[in-house]
Amino acid sequence: MRYISTRGGAEASGARAILTGLAPDGGLFVPERFPAFDWKTLQGLRYDARAAAVMATYLGDYGEEILADFTRKAYARFDENGAAPLKRIADGLYALELWHGPTLAFKDMALTVLPYLLTEAQRKTGSEDEIVILVATSGDTGKAALEGFKDVPGTRCAVYYPERGVSNMQKRQMATQEGENVHVIAVEGNFDDAQTGVKALFADAELAAEMAQKHLAFSSANSINIGRLLPQVAYYFSAYADMVESGGIRPGDEIVFCVPTGNFGNILAGIYARNMGLPIKRFVCASNKNRVLADFLHTGVYDINRPFYQTDSPSMDILISSNLERLLFELADRDAEQVNAWMAELKRAGHYDIGAEKRAKLAERVYGAWCDAASGAEIIGDLFDQYGYVSDTHSAVGFRALREYRAATGDDAPAVVVSTASPYKFARDVGNALGIITEGLDDFAVCDAIAARTGLPLPARITALKDAPARHSRVCSVSNMKEALRAELGL
Ligand SMILES: *Cc1c(COP(=O)(O)O)cnc(C)c1O
Repeated sequence: MRYISTRGGAEASGARAILTGLAPDGGLFVPERFPAFDWKTLQGLRYDARAAAVMATYLGDYGEEILADFTRKAYARFDENGAAPLKRIADGLYALELWHGPTLAFKDMALTVLPYLLTEAQRKTGSEDEIVILVATSGDTGKAALEGFKDVPGTRCAVYYPERGVSNMQKRQMATQEGENVHVIAVEGNFDDAQTGVKALFADAELAAEMAQKHLAFSSANSINIGRLLPQVAYYFSAYADMVESGGIRPGDEIVFCVPTGNFGNILAGIYARNMGLPIKRFVCASNKNRVLADFLHTGVYDINRPFYQTDSPSMDILISSNLERLLFELADRDAEQVNAWMAELKRAGHYDIGAEKRAKLAERVYGAWCDAASGAEIIGDLFDQYGYVSDTHSAVGFRALREYRAATGDDAPAVVVSTASPYKFARDVGNALGIITEGLDDFAVCDAIAARTGLPLPARITALKDAPARHSRVCSVSNMKEALRAELGL
């Protein structure tokens, strides 16, 4: 499979696309076509074998055997049997739990695999440079990348996170990160500032020259990297196979996936699965109060001229959803000129309009909904009271959006809410939503209280954070991100 850029000016093999991250013309790499894949072939297989089978359809240059080796090692780090368990909550209502990995959020699904894909790509392309993974994180990607790349030979990993834009637990996870090749930098700004700053570093010719002298080369672990996306396609197929296996649906029945969304990577992977033939009726794209996507899906206008809110689902606090560009490319029937025009308009004026016809086409497949923190908290309480199910704040946005979708459309097709984080990662807000008095308790005491109330096992990875020493303390302003990196890398 070849990969082409959404902006029309680049083409690469799978290995090269993974190594490069962002395409040289500023666009995102997408597969030149969507391979057909039959979910039935996954029945009876373990999750890691399922993932390898799906990924092999895109990464022929790697081959299924080596991919199976990679996914076996990667998913062995998950503590739940199967890595992506589908949990039945009620009739026709399921949660696909993607947070049983090393950092307790769905980013682990891809970031445990990506280091293998990248170092293999390095080998294949004969590159002798050390790879520097640059990451802008809204909280979860950073930690997952640090864990994934920790002490991987031939790589370093530098993470920028918004100083006041992540939860205490997320901050602590990153500040305590071990490993000799990792760098953690707090930025005085929000996620979009950090993401824009990192994009500028990628495009900085002067910096690239300095790096080249030291045999260093940038790559990306953000979801702009196609290597992040491909492992995510697999769990949509796996969930479907599991639902058939458990008798929840008959083979061929169409289902709904509801995805808590920020950078549009998770849901896009689902859309790719649908393009490969998985019977998905519709996606619900769930946003928090930063509802730029929900508005876009209802009006056809993507407009970032709006206030930015810090919410209790920080990993979704995003106004510029990078991966939407990949969807736009499909929506424009792969017309790169059109994508260029929209992206230029976004850069110039902060908005673009896809027009009524394309909006209607999109709405047939993707329904946009959003909710604020109060409605999210309410549904966390409801889910526990009615079904004994504990949801984190991000997944709650999904459950709430699904409720709205069902009320608005009357569609009662079986639905899967993609559950993206452990409730313990956002313990204070989850605790409050469950009616636990959290005042005066530190985060770990809140976790204990949630465990006592709900019986949901408290992961050892949370308890271990309590006494872990802080190892990273660098803070920089938005305009000083380059200097901070130079200092960290010793340039
Ligand atoms: C990253 C993240 C999201 C958003 O996923 P995207 O792929 O950016 O849309 C949602 N929930 C959690 C917990 C996350 O870490």
